[in-house]
Amino acid sequence: MLTADPMPAAPSAWTGGILTIDLDAVAANYRILRDRVGPRTICGAAVKADAYGLGAARIVPVLAEAGCHTFFVAHLAEGAAIRPLLGTDATIFVLNGAMPGTEAALHEHGLVPVLNSLEQIARWRDLARQAGRDLPAALQVDSGMSRFGLSDADVDALAARDGSLAGITPLLVMSHLACADEPAHPANHAQRAAFLRLRARLPAAPASLAASSGLFMGSDWHFDMVRPGAALYGINPTPGWPNPMQPVVRLQARIVQTRWIGPGTAVGYGAAFIADRPSRIATLAVGYGDGFPRAAGGHGHAVLPERPAAKLPIIGRISMDCLAVDVTDISDAPLDAGTALDLIGPHHSIDSAAAAAGTIGYELLTGLGARYHRLYRDDRSRKGCNG
Ligand SMILES: *Cc1c(COP(=O)(O)O)cnc(C)c1O
Repeated sequence: MLTADPMPAAPSAWTGGILTIDLDAVAANYRILRDRVGPRTICGAAVKADAYGLGAARIVPVLAEAGCHTFFVAHLAEGAAIRPLLGTDATIFVLNGAMPGTEAALHEHGLVPVLNSLEQIARWRDLARQAGRDLPAALQVDSGMSRFGLSDADVDALAARDGSLAGITPLLVMSHLACADEPAHPANHAQRAAFLRLRARLPAAPASLAASSGLFMGSDWHFDMVRPGAALYGINPTPGWPNPMQPVVRLQARIVQTRWIGPGTAVGYGAAFIADRPSRIATLAVGYGDGFPRAAGGHGHAVLPERPAAKLPIIGRISMDCLAVDVTDISDAPLDAGTALDLIGPHHSIDSAAAAAGTIGYELLTGLGARYHRLYRDDRSRKGCNG
């Protein structure tokens, strides 16, 4: 018969890492953003890419309960997945619009495409004609990002032709800022001016220009609706300034083992790290197979929550299933197998963890794989449960 260790480990120890998502903080962040724009502006929520990797199935109901009625996804499949979670009073906009042949499915799933081209408009108009009734849509104009939306010439063509929007009820005219994370960038004002000019030539509809960072540029940028995503999930919408949002994500990695090595000893693939002093090395059970960026090797750090001042460098190359951390400076602390260190946490923001890997919080969050044990923290006053 096998004898178990002192205590059988909880399922949270069956994986190498634990991803804790604070749903109360998501709700609090929604309220912060909504209060920031005030009652004249609707605060929607971008929940594309599975709510930035955090689980749309858990995030969307929390936002709805916080009072959000307008959601943005990128694809039809993402919209279809969240539609059953929401009441009929909720609007789900599909940012990439209607791909050829998906119009009927969009309509059947109660989704509203963001029409980005004359071609998308024509196909949505055809569907409305077949359906024999007006269908809602958003219209996107290209105010200078050259990514999605109607060009100046497209807007002229629409304006010139009677019935070019026949059967289409525009719920929103929108565009997207390329440089909102740099408020002083001249492109912002140029885009705003272009947006106003293009919008004036389209049928009257509520207008939307700002996402998370644009929202913090002030009321000139709010129009009738804002569409924050990143800020809801705790990413700093005001880079270079204190983060006005509450942290949402904690990523913990467990120690598998520790060892002392002497000067000249190599650690990890490619012998990319060589100790220059007697060093204590902890091997943590999170790697790039968990979506933790390999580029953080040699740059990022971990934190033992009880010793927040010590930045424990991630040394050498990150492997698929593990990474190595130099814990020499806290070797007097308890570092038993199973001890969890923070890769993202109260003392180590998602933005700083991303920067160390040469990326942004958006990419780090959306890349965090499905391999972690996930814990959703939820206020007792809500009916939701942990799991
Ligand atoms: C992703 C996206 C958003 C949300 O952007 P954040 O920077 O995450 O707030 C809003 N609008 C559009 C068009 C987007 O693509």
